[in-house]
Amino acid sequence: MTSYKWRCNNYILPEIGDLLREYNRILITAPDGLKNIYKCLIEKYGGLISEKEVYFSAHGSYGACDLPVSEINSLKPDLIIHIGHNEYPFNSYLPGNVRIIYLPAKHVRKPSLQELELIYARLRDEGYRRVGIVATIQHTSITTIIRDFLEEKGINAFIGKSGIPVMEEGQILGCELSAIYSVKGKVDVFLVVAGGFFHALGVYLASQRPVMIYDPYTGVVRDYTRKAYSVLAKRYYLVEKVRNSPYHSLGLIIGSSPGQYRPKLLRLLYEKSISKGYKPYLVSSSILDMDRLIAIDNGLNLDFYVVTSCPRLPIDDLSDFYKPVLTPGEFRMVLEDLKEYVFPW
Ligand code: SF4
Repeated sequence: MTSYKWRCNNYILPEIGDLLREYNRILITAPDGLKNIYKCLIEKYGGLISEKEVYFSAHGSYGACDLPVSEINSLKPDLIIHIGHNEYPFNSYLPGNVRIIYLPAKHVRKPSLQELELIYARLRDEGYRRVGIVATIQHTSITTIIRDFLEEKGINAFIGKSGIPVMEEGQILGCELSAIYSVKGKVDVFLVVAGGFFHALGVYLASQRPVMIYDPYTGVVRDYTRKAYSVLAKRYYLVEKVRNSPYHSLGLIIGSSPGQYRPKLLRLLYEKSISKGYKPYLVSSSILDMDRLIAIDNGLNLDFYVVTSCPRLPIDDLSDFYKPVLTPGEFRMVLEDLKEYVFPW
């Protein structure tokens, strides 16, 4: 079990002095929102860092799925330290001869009594008596505080648990939401402990249950169900558009990082689409955004696209593209004639 020992701004992290002593060529990566931890590392381990060849990556590192492959290939570090997330459970490969250490950062803020009362009041006022609690890795340690408070108030509260060993109790990712299935049958609402809306939307798409958010950075509690429903409605529209159009050609878009290259899923979708009369083309893209997709479409002019790298890209970044862009789960709905929404795969 990881022990968290030192504080940087509002985060607590594990000690890494021994690791820095052991390795010589070290690449450190972090999501943009946690890159200020680089400065704390310099303050805490400056002497050691100056004795070694340490590279601070500017790569965005959206998740532990997104290691900077080209930097790893050219710099050839003997140690990679990824700050902010634990290991991604669906890596299809790992760069050879390099040790990777994941350094999740735990946010220090705990809910105040007033905020706990607010969570309870919002659930009670909406008539919810049974709640499933999930969180991002930064906040899994406060889920028990919330659960115990709600239980004392007479609400049945359950912390979800993914069946995947590297996932912490209660933890979800944007594309790994199995913790919700462990409690879905027992609850009528999910409480997502996370900043922003990204994870709450994932929970709604995967569960189609009402979703409340407790934002542990601001203490705000909000009901996200209506907004998430409008996103789901748009996703159904795109699925039905592909299902009911005489589309023939599609681009299966492939990621390149260890967690975003999914050969098994790709093969499945490729073979199934051929058996259903489609003509799939394989498109590789280490980074996918609107500009890249426009460039691909200018080149290939296919009828629609399916993103096999990050299943949130079609929903969060590419939903306004002028042709349908589907997640793997949505394309399965078309191929297998499924009516119920499938997220993410
Ligand atoms: S949702 Fe996308 S960015 Fe997040 S862990 Fe999954 S693949 Fe990575």
